[in-house]
Amino acid sequence: MLCPKCAVRLERSKYEDLGIRVCPQCHGMLVRKNRLEVIRNRRDKSPEQLVHEIAEGGEDSMQRLRCPECRVTMRKERHHLGPSEFWIDVCTKCELVWLDPGELAKLQLAFELSEQGAERAQLRQRLANMTPEEQQELQERIAQLPESPLFRNWFLEGLGPLI
Ligand SMILES: [Zn+2]
Ligand SMILES: [Zn+2]
Repeated sequence: MLCPKCAVRLERSKYEDLGIRVCPQCHGMLVRKNRLEVIRNRRDKSPEQLVHEIAEGGEDSMQRLRCPECRVTMRKERHHLGPSEFWIDVCTKCELVWLDPGELAKLQLAFELSEQGAERAQLRQRLANMTPEEQQELQERIAQLPESPLFRNWFLEGLGPLI
């Protein structure tokens, strides 16, 4: 299979022990959709590592790409990471996803944040029914959150109006 951008032969490679294909020239990667979900659900990389990978990645190209397997034009699928958005290329027929450098890290980080968002909503609901003593206890727990400034800020922003 050839790279949909450079037409260079894609090389077999591994990402977190799952088989993928990588372009030796642009470093984009081709991943089966089901494998992508496995990678996304893992927590092998820290948020700091993911942020680093995102920073190393390039511009999000808006170029229309053809699926390396069936040659049909791939669909642009929109994703969000915080306030910014990015697009990945998907062939729904072959269940293949093309990711520009840094986009896999964006997907992983976006997923972690969305999970956090869900936890935050639950927490808000619980807070509404808490006694002052219970709220105090929660504040103490928040003070003990891991020192990742990224997560801590997001977490506190979410609780902002309540604490
Ligand atoms: Zn390429
Ligand atoms: Zn295809």
